[in-house]
Amino acid sequence: MSAAHASSDGFGGKLAKLGRIFGISDADPEPASSPRPSAARETGNAHTRREIERRRGLYDDIGSFLFAHDLDLTPLNFGLALDYITGNDLAIEKAVRAILHDKGRLTNGIAEQIIAEQRAEEMTPDTLGDMLDKVEANLDQLTGIADQSRNSAKDFGAALQKQAAELTKDAAGSDTISNLVSLTRGMIEKTREVEARMREGQKQTRLLQKNLENARKAAEQDHLTGLPNRRAFENTIREESVLARENGEPLSVAFCDIDHFKNINDRHGHDAGDRVLKFIAGLLARISGDKAHVARHGGEEFVMLFRGLTVSDAAKIVDDARADMAERNLVDRKTGERMDQVTFSGGVADVFAYDEPRDALKAADRALYLAKEHGRNRVYIASESPED
Ligand code: GH3
Ligand code: MG
Ligand code: MG
Repeated sequence: MSAAHASSDGFGGKLAKLGRIFGISDADPEPASSPRPSAARETGNAHTRREIERRRGLYDDIGSFLFAHDLDLTPLNFGLALDYITGNDLAIEKAVRAILHDKGRLTNGIAEQIIAEQRAEEMTPDTLGDMLDKVEANLDQLTGIADQSRNSAKDFGAALQKQAAELTKDAAGSDTISNLVSLTRGMIEKTREVEARMREGQKQTRLLQKNLENARKAAEQDHLTGLPNRRAFENTIREESVLARENGEPLSVAFCDIDHFKNINDRHGHDAGDRVLKFIAGLLARISGDKAHVARHGGEEFVMLFRGLTVSDAAKIVDDARADMAERNLVDRKTGERMDQVTFSGGVADVFAYDEPRDALKAADRALYLAKEHGRNRVYIASESPED
């Protein structure tokens, strides 16, 4: 679809506004037929011109996408189109691609559903993680204050006790002094009580901290398979890429997806599907170790990271796991029925062949997509990888 669609009066105006909301409208928000921005032309800066052209192209693509699917001009739909076209958000991109593959087009309702599902998935672990960080910071502060107060109370108690002993010795018989002594003793008792309560409070705080730590672990774990989840994997890939770079080691990432998993659910039921997921998770988990990490990316998809392995060595390991799985004859435990062959496909990419680890993950996902297209039950290496 041409830019003309996006720049027709009302539509173009609204789109321009949405573009500005998302920060992708170019320096010249006029339709394509208007003169080019004078600053770019005068300076002759090729980079700026290219950037403007890139943005204009993106802008046109988004407009065409929204127009082709007759989607309302809302920030949410615009964001969805942006994520799909740029591939910025892998999960959104995949969800849209799946719908386009199955149904041929999007509707406002489906777009809303995709965004809602994505948000629900993202909200839980991320916001929980942020909350835990904040609570922990507060607790640290509280523990510091409690420590300080407890020590002050202790010092104060000790000083009072010393003074009381002196007073008793020096001024026996004096009423005022003996009153003062008993008052002081009362203070000492109170100080001890406060000290004991603070100690108890600190104990509770530490317990709370431990519970929070457990909650944090739970937020990074997939409940069904026990594997780390996508959130944990995203942290791992960031950390491991720093380590691998420091040590001059290769780093490879793989994306695996069970083939025709929907059929397994349809034929044997969701519970049997869950058991297959657990089985494959276990099979892949056996690959993991100090330098290899396996996580459930979501649904019937798994991701793997291999530090110290080139993309072809990593692909070999994933392919061995694939061959191992393809040879197995799974039986539905509930019905005793034999299942059809359960296989998975994979895509592998060299993390350092891309600017960002997430770009490598996207490349692995594209390779996986090709593996699916070419018949499934196979592992492909991303074509951008130097060794391919
Ligand atoms: P393809 O070979 O193209 O990957 O086909 P597929 O059927 O595996 O892929 P599709 O994306 O069409 O279907 C994935 C299915 O996985 C749909 C969804 O119901 C199922 N699924 C996702 N998460 C779970 C889960 O936790 N348990 C079970 N039992 N099924 C799940
Ligand atoms: Mg899938
Ligand atoms: Mg699948």
